[in-house]
Amino acid sequence: MDVKVRSGDSLWYYSTLFNVPLDLIIDSNPQAEPSSLQIGQTIRIPGYETSQYRIQSGDTFWKIASERRISLDAIALLNPSVNPRMLQIGQFLSLPVQVSYRVVDGNRPYDFNVLTTDLSELYELYPFVRRQTIGNSVMGKDLVELQIGRGPKVVHWNGSFHANEWITTAVIMQFLNDYLLALTNKETIRGLEINPFYNEVTLSIVPMVDPDGVDLVLNGPPEGDFGELALRINDGNTDFSGWKANIRGVDLNNQYPAKWEVDAARKPTSPAPRDFPGYQPLTEPETVAMAELAGARNFEKMLAFHTQGEVIYWGYEGLEPPRSMTIVNEFERVSGYKPIRYVDSFSGYKDWFIQDFRQPGFTVELGSGVNPLPLEQFDEIYQETMGIFLASLYM
Ligand SMILES: [Zn+2]
Repeated sequence: MDVKVRSGDSLWYYSTLFNVPLDLIIDSNPQAEPSSLQIGQTIRIPGYETSQYRIQSGDTFWKIASERRISLDAIALLNPSVNPRMLQIGQFLSLPVQVSYRVVDGNRPYDFNVLTTDLSELYELYPFVRRQTIGNSVMGKDLVELQIGRGPKVVHWNGSFHANEWITTAVIMQFLNDYLLALTNKETIRGLEINPFYNEVTLSIVPMVDPDGVDLVLNGPPEGDFGELALRINDGNTDFSGWKANIRGVDLNNQYPAKWEVDAARKPTSPAPRDFPGYQPLTEPETVAMAELAGARNFEKMLAFHTQGEVIYWGYEGLEPPRSMTIVNEFERVSGYKPIRYVDSFSGYKDWFIQDFRQPGFTVELGSGVNPLPLEQFDEIYQETMGIFLASLYM
């Protein structure tokens, strides 16, 4: 919601008028100089939208405000040309409405298009979310990173490294919406105060690492060369439900230089629906973008969400720091998922992250069954994952 600055207004005043944390208003208006607002300048109020109300006989500002538990001055601010003493029946007023519901519904086939639409709605409602494009997929789709908060502790989550594990994107996005709701409405999640995290943590999220692959699994092969290539790699089969790779048949989670050669020696040697690690490490734009991001951000911890198995991989060659064990034990406590330290598998993002940065890195395998997991599991997975999301912030 946008308001226009009047003489005497301040961001602090808007914070009290709308009961929204001041930090969130400041960060929603990076172009505004908080100590010298200009009269007539537009200021964005996060977590609010406006509704149009048609004035009826007997209405007064006071009656309209008290019925909705909003302040008189909030109505005046949004309707600068309306004289409160001369309301006309049939005239329209803009009224502020604090958003208390999700705009993201993760419980649906969550392709790149749904992601893009949901991101636009979140940016509009929560302008303090910072976004940037960290690269492009093979087919040119934007690889988006979101950042929320101003804390020195940078916690990273990513989803859909594997195409047919797209439900991980849906889970992340729905939780992101709940997190933003809790921040703007000063609410708790599972009894935990959320607002303090805004200044303690910078949350970095790449919700969909493999958008071309996700769209292939959900929508079938695209028109043109990439679709034809994917069909060839899939032996002409139009069922792509077993497809984990990117659009040209490289498994993005087998692309990292962490004993890559060991894995490559026992994996497919040409493009395949899954497990082909590429002809060399880091040949794909998606894996390069994620490697550069880790290099740029100094993640305090990294969680890569996959399906399935209800387990959490947390070690790599003894290079993980001691606190990885403390953290994974808390993840187990809040989700019931079982920690697994070492596994005979290399060249994943988590492996490389631990090896190169010596910080806690986790591969979290959500849900159980056969990929792609059916949406009937969404609500249960969401509940299990919520505890892990929160623990990654406070641990
Ligand atoms: Zn996976």
